[in-house]
Amino acid sequence: MALTGNWDGRISRRTLLRAGGSATAAYVLLGRSATRACAAPPFAGDPFGLGVASGDPTPDGVVLWTRLAPDPLGGGGMPEEVFGVRFEVAADEDFRKIVRRGAIEALPEEAHTVHAEIGGLEPDTPYWYRFKWGTTESRAGRTRTAPPPGSEAPMRFAFVSCQNYTNGFFGAYADLAEQDVDLVVHLGDYIYEGSGLGPTNPRVRDHWPKAELFTLNDYRTRHAQYRTDMDLQAAHAAHPFLMTWDDHEFKDNYANLDLDPNQPLATVEARRAAAYLAYWEHAPLPRSRKPVGKDMPLFRRLQWGNLATFHVLDTRQYRSDQLDVQCPAAQRDPTSRYCTGVLQSTRGILGAAQRDWLFEGIAAPGAAWNVVANQVGFAPLARRNTRNEIVFSLDSWDGYVADRQLVLDFLAQQSLRNTVVITGDAHQHSVRNVPPDFRSFDGTPVATEFMGTSISSESDTPFNTVFGGDPDNPHRLFDDHHRGYVTVTLDPQLWSAEFRGVESVATRTPVATPLATFVVENGVPGARRAGV
Ligand code: FE
Ligand code: CA
Repeated sequence: MALTGNWDGRISRRTLLRAGGSATAAYVLLGRSATRACAAPPFAGDPFGLGVASGDPTPDGVVLWTRLAPDPLGGGGMPEEVFGVRFEVAADEDFRKIVRRGAIEALPEEAHTVHAEIGGLEPDTPYWYRFKWGTTESRAGRTRTAPPPGSEAPMRFAFVSCQNYTNGFFGAYADLAEQDVDLVVHLGDYIYEGSGLGPTNPRVRDHWPKAELFTLNDYRTRHAQYRTDMDLQAAHAAHPFLMTWDDHEFKDNYANLDLDPNQPLATVEARRAAAYLAYWEHAPLPRSRKPVGKDMPLFRRLQWGNLATFHVLDTRQYRSDQLDVQCPAAQRDPTSRYCTGVLQSTRGILGAAQRDWLFEGIAAPGAAWNVVANQVGFAPLARRNTRNEIVFSLDSWDGYVADRQLVLDFLAQQSLRNTVVITGDAHQHSVRNVPPDFRSFDGTPVATEFMGTSISSESDTPFNTVFGGDPDNPHRLFDDHHRGYVTVTLDPQLWSAEFRGVESVATRTPVATPLATFVVENGVPGARRAGV
């Protein structure tokens, strides 16, 4: 049933007062403890300058996001009071067929962000939404619900990661905003916590604040700054997002509480609590994901009919500390050349609870594809140091070999042959067949990994496009160093991933072009290049 009438229909007078509804006399504002009337809005400027977003779609609902922030870089610019924000959800772009209308409180202790959890929608359906405060309307966003259980209808999604604001413009997002995709998966490094001022940091724009982040206000301001980017706003307004984080939302390469003997635990806990709260506030995540103190429950699943289950990982919050240095030759496993330290089963990247949760979900029947939304490189990757010795990244799954082996063994034992891992962090595109164990990179793969490059991080670098041929890594099929993102077209039989890149992020380049396409056939782990 479509609602009719004006914005203010069906809203309680109490909420309407806080929302500056037009049915009240001019602008009336109701604080938590006091009531006062104003002849003008209690803030100057557009409260919706950070745009709108949606996320975590289900068959009958989606989370809608905005933030009241008329002064985004100056603390938001809102009085320390509760405000009501109205929203409309429509079945059409012109908002003629309104299907939901309501209001929700924006709280000062949540930086006046809005997380409106809309239910009762139709499955597999596009919707348009917008917010209103007083007489000011936000831009309209488009979103969609997930298909119903049983559906095997094809989908198209994108995955993105690593958007260092100082390193470049977000032209890739302008391109993504124009794509016909059902979902965007964000694999982390949504913000970068550094000052952006280091001598080796390529800088085309300045961070604000121009300092490393420590306090809640710091993190809020940085999130707000990123959200001022028009191309990022366009991508959020165009598609629902499924978001997880990596390290830079809190601290470079952190592990759990990143125990630093020089810092009191309470200081680290307070900083992580600030980083996590600001992340939740600025993401289209449901309230059930809101952090409690230093802990935030982020790993979760998203079901896309019977076509795909997205297992969204958090490989930061529960991991064991990284080994700090590469080990000497005497401490290496002679066959694999991994440090014996990273082979220890006492060290993990998932934590026991998340690993049990992953195994339970990945073995559950129903979905044609298991898509693991993951932060750091999953398949092994042998690198050469300056002395031409083989070394491994200690921050990726290569630093937690025993934990990875548990996953690989589980896939093999359960005969699960439909797992694809999507990964960010590395600031490059890559395709890697995932070998069955850490000693035989050329073994028959048990899964396939698609790594997406950064939106902007690392700025422009030589593209270095290579299609396999590395004797140290026979399972590696593709590498490319454009900035950009990946789209995936998925049906029950075929995974088809298109790697896209922009020519430069030093200027705003709003067009990405296809670089290569790799496909995986369901039931046959491992990729092959298409169209050649
Ligand atoms: Fe990154
Ligand atoms: Ca990272």
